[in-house]
Amino acid sequence: MTGLDVPSDSQFGVNNLPYGIFSTRGTDKRVGVRIGDEVVDLSVALGDTVFANPSLNPFMAQGRERWVDVRAQIAALATEGDVPAEALHEVGAVTLYLPFEVADYVDFYASEYHAVNMGRLFRPDSEPLMPNWKHLPVGYHGRAGTVVVSGTDIVRPAGQRKTPSQSAPDFGPSRRLDIEAEMGFVVGVPSERGAPITPDQFAEHVFGAVIVNDWSARDIQAWEYVPLGPFLGKSFATSISPWVVPLLALEEARISTPIQDPEPLPYLREGRSWALDIDLAVEWNGHEVSRPPYGAMYWSPAQMLAHTTVNGASSRTGDLFASGTISGPAKEQRGAFIELTWGGTEPVAVGDEMRTFLEDGDEVVISASAPGPGGTRIGFGDVRGRIVGS
Ligand code: CA
Repeated sequence: MTGLDVPSDSQFGVNNLPYGIFSTRGTDKRVGVRIGDEVVDLSVALGDTVFANPSLNPFMAQGRERWVDVRAQIAALATEGDVPAEALHEVGAVTLYLPFEVADYVDFYASEYHAVNMGRLFRPDSEPLMPNWKHLPVGYHGRAGTVVVSGTDIVRPAGQRKTPSQSAPDFGPSRRLDIEAEMGFVVGVPSERGAPITPDQFAEHVFGAVIVNDWSARDIQAWEYVPLGPFLGKSFATSISPWVVPLLALEEARISTPIQDPEPLPYLREGRSWALDIDLAVEWNGHEVSRPPYGAMYWSPAQMLAHTTVNGASSRTGDLFASGTISGPAKEQRGAFIELTWGGTEPVAVGDEMRTFLEDGDEVVISASAPGPGGTRIGFGDVRGRIVGS
C-alpha cells in the first residue's frame, strides 16, 4: 500500500479529483483521477469495470448520486493512504486522450465584452450587440467529430478568403488563424426529447468542465458567416483539456452573473446561479498575453443548457457546450487575438516579436484554475496546440 503525498499548494488536491482517460505502456485506455502529480487507475483502485472503459461516458451516465459516492471513495483512499501501488502512475509517464466521446457540440457567445468587440470589428456601422443578445444565450451547433484533446497538432485550414478590397474570393490557407479561450461543460445524464432541463436541474445533468480552445480562421469566417453563422472557419478543430473537473469540485467557485437587464424570460431564470469564478491565462509561444476572467460572462452555463433544451431538444451523454470566447473589460483580458490586436491593426508583443495572428509553428497554451475550499485552488490543467502548415 502507498500513501499519496500531495503538496498543500497543489491545484490537484483531494478537493479537485478531475477525471481523464489514460494509458501506460502495457495498459489499454482507462479512467484515471489526477491527485497531485499521480494518476490513480480507478479500475484497479476501486475494482469497478466502469472505469476500464476508454471514455468517461459510461460513468458519466450513471448520475449524480453515483458521482458523489465515487468521489467520496476516492477521497477516502487518497487521504487514508490506501491506494495500491499498482494503481499509481506518474502523470508525466502516461498518455492522455480525449476524456469523453463527444456527442453533440454547441458553442455559445456569452461574453458581453467579446460580443461587443466582435460587433465593432465585424459590423462597424451598426450597433455592436444584436437585439436578441441580452434575451437569449446566442449559440450555434459545431462539429463534434473534430473536438481533439490537448496536444493535438492543428493543421492550418484552407478555404475561401475575401478581403474587402477583393471583388471575388480566392482559395488558400487561412491568413488570420486565431484562438478562442473558453470553458466547456459536458452532459453526463441525458434528457428526453420534449423534457427541457431547467437551470435548477443543471447539476443533475452536467458532470464537469474542461478548458476549450475554439480555433478560428477569421478570414474564412468573415466571408462565410452571413446569414447562418460560423461554419468552416471553426469546424476544422476544437481542442479541450484532458482532465474533466467535476462540477462537485466547483461549489466554492460559484458566483452570480452580472445583473441581467432586461430580466431574462422565466425559463432562463436561476435560483442560485451557476456562474463560476474561473481565471484563465493564455500563453503564446511561452509568453502570457491574456488573462480572461470566466466570472465576467453574462450568461451562466445553466442558462446555456436550459436554452439548448427549451425547444424540446433532447441531450445525450457526452454533449459538450462551450461558453464562447471569454473576454473581460480590460484589453489584457481579451480571449481572442482578433480582439487583442483589434483585427490585426494593433500587434501585440510575443516575447521579442510583434504579432497579430498565428504563424506555423506557434504554440498556444490556455490554463485555468478556480477557488476551492480553505484557500486552495482547483486546477483545470491546460489545453495546448501547435499550428502546422497545410
Ligand atoms: Ca467560440
